[in-house]
Amino acid sequence: MDYNSRKLVPFIPPSKYDEVANEFLEQYYPKALKDPMPVPIEQIAKDGLGLDVQYICLTEELDIYGMTIFTDGLVEVYDPDEGLYDTREFKARTVLVDPEAVKRTNTGCRNNTLAHECVHWYKHRYYYKYQNLVLPRYAKYCKCNVSQLPEATDDENIMEAQAIGIAPRILMPKSTFTEAAERLGVAYDKDNRSAIGALAGYFEVSKKSVEIRLKECSLL
Ligand SMILES: [Zn+2]
Repeated sequence: MDYNSRKLVPFIPPSKYDEVANEFLEQYYPKALKDPMPVPIEQIAKDGLGLDVQYICLTEELDIYGMTIFTDGLVEVYDPDEGLYDTREFKARTVLVDPEAVKRTNTGCRNNTLAHECVHWYKHRYYYKYQNLVLPRYAKYCKCNVSQLPEATDDENIMEAQAIGIAPRILMPKSTFTEAAERLGVAYDKDNRSAIGALAGYFEVSKKSVEIRLKECSLL
């Protein structure tokens, strides 16, 4: 993969998203590329990438659904019992998921969020580790917002778009997802609702996510 030598933001155009998702699966769960099957993304996050996945509340407004922490340090989280923000120490390689905020995302599913945070670790950790050399005082993390973060930099927006694009392709790899959809008879000119429901249940993602993926794979 090409890296921008100055800032280490990987250059991944959308036409390469399937390729990157396949590379990821080749490394961590190759059998998902051979036959249709649900991808155990939480297991892969923990055992494959060595991430510590924690489910906690991140904001009062439920606008941050996930975070990947790249260096040790302090991170602000929300304590719903006290109704207060609190600063807590987290270790590098930690992923925080807010289960309530996840429901407000476009694809509304925990597995998609886990895959999204895995992409940040897999492709973006060098960027954040480099930031730590430049600005070592603070923990380096990325915050994934339900809508775009107003204060996000261009680099962060590029990386966020990559994670949004690649995550569903990890959970629904093009070849095996297409095979499963065709087996269920998904086609342009018919009512595909029951097939979409079946695919969502099988791949353990939301129906919305299946619909988007079917369009990406030119099946809808
Ligand atoms: Zn993100």
